[in-house]
Amino acid sequence: SSGSAASSAEANGEKPADGDEKAPSPEEVSFLRKVLRERLVQNKNEVEIMQKDPNSPLYSVKSFEELNLPPDLLMGVYHMGFNAPSKIQETALPMLLADDKTNMIAQSQSGTGKTAAFVLTMLSRIDTKKPYPQALCLAPTMELALQIGQVVEQMGKYMEGLKVAYGVRGNKVARGQKLGDHIIIGTPGTVLDWSLKLRVIDLRKVEVFVLDEADVMIATQGHQDQSIRIHKNLSRTCQMLLFSATYDDPVMAFAQVVVPDPVIIRLRREEESLDNIKQYYVTCENRDAKFRALSNIYGVVSIGQCMIFCHTGKTAAWLAEKMKGGGHAVALLTGELLTRKTAAWLAEKMKGDGHAVALLTGELLTRKTAAWLAEKMKGDGHAVALLTGELLVEQRVSVINRFRDGKEKVLITTNLCARGIDIEQVTLVVNFDIPVDQFGQPDCENYLHRIGRTGRFGKTGLAINMVDGPRSMSQLSKIQDHFGKKIAKLDTEDAEAIE
Ligand code: ADP
Repeated sequence: SSGSAASSAEANGEKPADGDEKAPSPEEVSFLRKVLRERLVQNKNEVEIMQKDPNSPLYSVKSFEELNLPPDLLMGVYHMGFNAPSKIQETALPMLLADDKTNMIAQSQSGTGKTAAFVLTMLSRIDTKKPYPQALCLAPTMELALQIGQVVEQMGKYMEGLKVAYGVRGNKVARGQKLGDHIIIGTPGTVLDWSLKLRVIDLRKVEVFVLDEADVMIATQGHQDQSIRIHKNLSRTCQMLLFSATYDDPVMAFAQVVVPDPVIIRLRREEESLDNIKQYYVTCENRDAKFRALSNIYGVVSIGQCMIFCHTGKTAAWLAEKMKGGGHAVALLTGELLTRKTAAWLAEKMKGDGHAVALLTGELLTRKTAAWLAEKMKGDGHAVALLTGELLVEQRVSVINRFRDGKEKVLITTNLCARGIDIEQVTLVVNFDIPVDQFGQPDCENYLHRIGRTGRFGKTGLAINMVDGPRSMSQLSKIQDHFGKKIAKLDTEDAEAIE
């Protein structure tokens, strides 16, 4: 560990956060986002298009009806509850669905409608009378593959006889058996086995190839090479599509290899800002004083929902207990710090006191996913392998969902755990510890992400920073200077000042 953790962590005699808690992997973060996403992310920016032929006319559509979809597919779109194409879909869909099978690289943040767009494209290329795979989609994890499959099954609900197979670990096929499914969704390793080793898919007959979450894909050892090997065996007339939430050099280098002669479309992320956010700080001697300040604020300000960020899982757990003692329903979202045993003990204790407790620890199974998959596979007549040692995604999702549903008004968490999560109705953000990076330097980006809002929220918000010494004070001033926005001192004995 670096020995330069937040001053508060030192004041409490805690070890720095590194090693304390493990950051969720990129796969995990992206999956969380996906599962938690209930509706489209609004984005006011314009879609940027880099065409292969700048002279060819561009079409964009404002309705799904303009796309000339077959009736069963249009019904599927209605079944999804979609009224109009999302911003990226307005531009992408006409090209994706055109007869000339345009290759495309599309980048936009998660939640902007990429999955729906490529699922529609795959479905539009399928002839259910032909009993072999015609669309192939690669995703970085089994969970994401299953998630995409759910969209395929919903949107393809009215396509008679449509069959989908999941090329994911644990799903067994016999060598040489020819798959009759129209769409294959899977992870690169298993799909590679299925195509080249077991030869149950004829890649040359695939009409459309989709690489989803390419940025997450290249972060995983082996996935890039496996994807390229699959890609090499596709026919030249296969439509190639790549989707990514980010747009940096490694992703683009990979994209250029697997998507020849592409149209590139991008929707830049809307910048978060600190406008309309009232920022304050309070000075406290130590952790207990911070807790008292928090209680004072709670006593005075009417608070909708609140997220509290701590530097370590240990502080988070400590604070959760204290707040519960003060009669608050608290959700706790931390990583590996709590062992299963401690967590269970804490949960029992809190429940015993009559509090609504949502709890998360880092070692449980994603039982729901496993059970779902087992059912699917049995239904398809496969021998079902047992899945073990999965991520803790299900538990994490349930904590966040409970909080979002208002079952708890407070979510106490650490930086690492909260990465990639935004909950719109949060009106108060408390930095119980000032955000710092691994070197103990103020982490401005993180600060902005915790507190800032994009234009879509519009509402005002309140941010309170807890400072416990010269070191954290200097970290906070650097943050203030960075954004050029005043962070005012707050006297918590006189908390009316906030309102
Ligand atoms: P991405 O793949 O970019 O993360 P998704 O395709 O998963 O985005 O879409 C995000 C959310 O928005 C999903 O809940 C999806 O059902 C919904 N959605 C997608 N397209 C539309 C649309 N045209 N109208 C309404 N909701 C949509």
